[in-house]
Amino acid sequence: MDTDVLVAWFAETARLVHRERERLTDLDAAIGDADHGSNLDRGFSEVARALATSPPDTPAQVLATAGATLIRRVGGASGPLYGSVFRQMGKSLTSPVTLAGFAAAFEEGVVAAERLGKAALGDKTMVDALVPASRALALAVRDGVGVREAFEQAARAAADGAKATIPLQARKGRASYLGERSVGHEDPGAASAALLMAALATVVA
Ligand code: ADP
Ligand code: MG
Ligand code: MG
Repeated sequence: MDTDVLVAWFAETARLVHRERERLTDLDAAIGDADHGSNLDRGFSEVARALATSPPDTPAQVLATAGATLIRRVGGASGPLYGSVFRQMGKSLTSPVTLAGFAAAFEEGVVAAERLGKAALGDKTMVDALVPASRALALAVRDGVGVREAFEQAARAAADGAKATIPLQARKGRASYLGERSVGHEDPGAASAALLMAALATVVA
């Protein structure tokens, strides 16, 4: 896994988020303010553009650029949260990038977002997809699973985690204002986190 793989990860994420922007916004319309798809479409397309315009030299620089761009360009809760994931990952990632190194940096990135948002697993947020993905990567490293299989498992764990938010009541973010009325809807941020992991599985395949 080198710089090119990380650049490809963000390009594929931008493509998936653009393709799924209406679904993400519809999910946010149900329990938020109907802007998650447009927020992330704007943010990740800007990330992809920044990376294409001035290609970074190192994986850490790719992540730093992605994080800073999302924080600057996404005018919603999700921008700083995803931004903190990538910025922290960029600080934690050691070179050359291995699966174990990536998994450890990703975990630190997820912890940074949990701290920033004060959200825990089960609060019906993006954390509910990110944490299972991070755990799946850690298990894959422990079991000596190959890179492709590891990211497939992480993508599946994130998708399952996103679906598992449906019966939950939101305890963080805008959706929490709805109280019990947030039950029965998939969390938009968990859905976008699943796209992020699906993109990663695609680019390492
Ligand atoms: P906004 O709610 O400001 O309009 P977005 O619609 O872009 O921002 O993103 C909403 C998503 O952000 C939610 O679905 C949830 O996954 C995530 N989110 C919101 N607040 C928090 C938080 N405190 N911690 C973790 N994730 C959060
Ligand atoms: Mg919103
Ligand atoms: Mg908003």
